[in-house]
Amino acid sequence: MPMKKIMYSSTNGHPELLDFKDALLRGQAPDKGLYVPEEIPKLAPEVIERFKDLDYPEVAFEIIKLYLGDTVPKEDLKAILEEAYDYDVPIERVYDQKYVMRLDKGPTLSFKDFAARLMGRLMQYFLRREGRNMLILTATSGDTGSAVAHAFYDLDNIQVVVLFPEKEVTGRQRKQMTTLGKNVHIMAVDGKFDDCQDIVKQAFVDPDFDYLNLSSANSINVGRLIPQSIYYFYAWSRIAPEGDEVVISVPCGNFGNVMAGLIAMKMGLPVRRFVIATNENDEFPDFLESGSYKPIHPSRKCISNAMNVGHPSNLARIFWLYGGQMDEKGVVHKMPDLEAMREDVFAVTITDQDTRKTISEAYNRYDTLLEPHGAVGWAGLQRYLKEVEDWKPAVSLETADPAKFPEEVVRAVGMEPPLPKSLAELDEMEEHFDKVEGDYESFKKGLKRLFPK
Ligand SMILES: *Cc1c(COP(=O)(O)O)cnc(C)c1O
Repeated sequence: MPMKKIMYSSTNGHPELLDFKDALLRGQAPDKGLYVPEEIPKLAPEVIERFKDLDYPEVAFEIIKLYLGDTVPKEDLKAILEEAYDYDVPIERVYDQKYVMRLDKGPTLSFKDFAARLMGRLMQYFLRREGRNMLILTATSGDTGSAVAHAFYDLDNIQVVVLFPEKEVTGRQRKQMTTLGKNVHIMAVDGKFDDCQDIVKQAFVDPDFDYLNLSSANSINVGRLIPQSIYYFYAWSRIAPEGDEVVISVPCGNFGNVMAGLIAMKMGLPVRRFVIATNENDEFPDFLESGSYKPIHPSRKCISNAMNVGHPSNLARIFWLYGGQMDEKGVVHKMPDLEAMREDVFAVTITDQDTRKTISEAYNRYDTLLEPHGAVGWAGLQRYLKEVEDWKPAVSLETADPAKFPEEVVRAVGMEPPLPKSLAELDEMEEHFDKVEGDYESFKKGLKRLFPK
């Protein structure tokens, strides 16, 4: 049976439609909107039912193939997925039928590996087929840079340059990037994260760099969104043997993770409801209640720092999913169907104080070790179970390894989190990185030195 080809369009309404390959390589639409699939493919209940007998790469295949159409032959796609997902995805029972799914076993110990590793491999695949090269240029405040650097590490025909603010990342975060080498080049910028982002933006519009074929691998790429739908199906297949609906709690920052969950639900996954758990950056819970959207400027600094986002970029996609329209600045051009949204989603704000209390309680009561992001998710789930309904099965996502946030873990449970091998080894490894000033000219010289014309 020939597969229907899904096309991708911009949330800002640009009339051009692209296939998956072009949307992936382009990243952002020319009107600054985000790419979304024109139509969300449906999976028959019998197909989803069979997922319980499949391993992770096999589940991934059943889902990803729907989005790629025939752009990647079956055998090639299977090989890519086997290679991208070669690590564990443990689902831990906490009590009753309440679970934590640990998405932190990839090479950088954050759930961002799931998206970045597949995106990197698909980009490489398409570029190689066309005999093209690309240079990924990205700015990071910590975790994204290492996930992207690892995802593209050692791939041919793609070079990676990551800029990070020298004084704003932890030693461990820095080492996760600077110890790689090969095609991964790291620049320490004497400035803030915003300076790094400004430099990257300027480079993209600088004609002097046309010869490098620059691309961003940032979080809004549709190639990073879709792979995140897979683990929702996987979780369900492991915890809902009777085919029941599940409640799923997601700690949210830029809302890419939960957007992928909502897509899974529209594809046919039996979800009772999503819990959207944010830290004190509560613009979305506030919107869902009041119907009026107010971005938070500047974003509030919380201990779940990867979620300190005052205007989540993927809200534009969530609005689209519910028939609304929001532009990149957060201006609402058309209201989404709020009632339908409230049916599917329960939104909750968790303070830093509650986050710390949750880390401590989960450990002392259930022997479950969480870090601040996962604790926001777990606290959100507890709130749902108490305030809305005591539903089972239910699962909360843990998005990073506790060893990435040792200070908060020690503070809450009085014990150092176990150090995974990949982090322990970093201390022995040699670091390589260039230093540049926080201005564009200094960066430009540095990049030209790395990649002469
Ligand atoms: C990026 C990140 C999040 C937030 O995910 P979004 O998809 O941006 O909502 C949560 N936890 C950790 C550890 C992260 O790195």
